[in-house]
Amino acid sequence: AKSATRGNFDGRGILADGHLLPLLANVGNAKEAVLAAAAGAEGVGLFRTEFLFLNRDSEPSMEEQVEAYRGVFQAFSVPGEPRKVVVRTLDAGADKPLPFLSNAAEPNPALGLRGYRTGLNNPGVLKRQLEAISTAAVGTAAEVWVMAPMISTPAESADFADLCRAAGLRSSGVMIEVPAAAISAAKIFQHVDFASLGTNDLTQYTMAADRQLGLLSGLNDPWQPSVLKLIAGCAEAAQAAAKPLGVCGEAAADPALAVVLAGLGVSTLSMTARALPAVAAVLKTVSLKRARELAVLALAEASAEDARTAVRGGLPALH
Ligand code: PEP
Ligand code: MG
Repeated sequence: AKSATRGNFDGRGILADGHLLPLLANVGNAKEAVLAAAAGAEGVGLFRTEFLFLNRDSEPSMEEQVEAYRGVFQAFSVPGEPRKVVVRTLDAGADKPLPFLSNAAEPNPALGLRGYRTGLNNPGVLKRQLEAISTAAVGTAAEVWVMAPMISTPAESADFADLCRAAGLRSSGVMIEVPAAAISAAKIFQHVDFASLGTNDLTQYTMAADRQLGLLSGLNDPWQPSVLKLIAGCAEAAQAAAKPLGVCGEAAADPALAVVLAGLGVSTLSMTARALPAVAAVLKTVSLKRARELAVLALAEASAEDARTAVRGGLPALH
């Protein structure tokens, strides 16, 4: 029945057999964090910090940063009931140009100085951001995790973890959104405490299809079996390392794909808050065993369309 995809989200991601799959929200500022908490999000799986840096020609001050980060932590600060807030360090460049950090004149901005790489020219910006996050985390009951965007190698992961430790941050991770990082996930997990799959960029780079080009949306589809195969490998690496692997790209907000991601073995899903009820409702209808079977079905298909059709066909809640 379609009604299974409506209704309220009662604040817990859980499969039919009781397997827990925490459902988190993607937010960009304190206001969105408050709304996400009200919508029942169990925490924040992706706090995009770009908002603070956009539309200005210099770096926000330390005080301004601390206040902005603290606002988001406060929304998930429940004493005695630690809620996770995963902060992503500044992801400038490509589809998120920032005049004072990225170079708009690059011939291939998506392959250029973006995300973690902007630190090659401006290491101070990242160091100060980590310091601000660390300061903002003091006195909040939220569990603050920090991750870097656009990591490509185990060495970058190790460097980022060092920077986090130097800033006094307890938990550091990386986004896996570059195919090289997905392929080397096992080595990356040797350096960081967790990882989060950014399926928007992972799909773009795996398929070599610009995420901003509507004409390429057929290629730019996280149901592409090649993308699912990379995700499956990351989940295996995470399980072998006994470390959490979340998903924070748009893929997590697609209820049928959320089931596949659960079946592949990811440990949390993070999405826009308004997608929470529909995803939770469908997850509730499948056991982990069934989700694994559906993931195997999807991986065996040769196209995104066939993978989607096969999985949706096995989910009565979506009919
Ligand atoms: C992603 O790439 O999937 C992601 C979550 O980050 P963004 O969309 O901000 O690039
Ligand atoms: Mg990304």
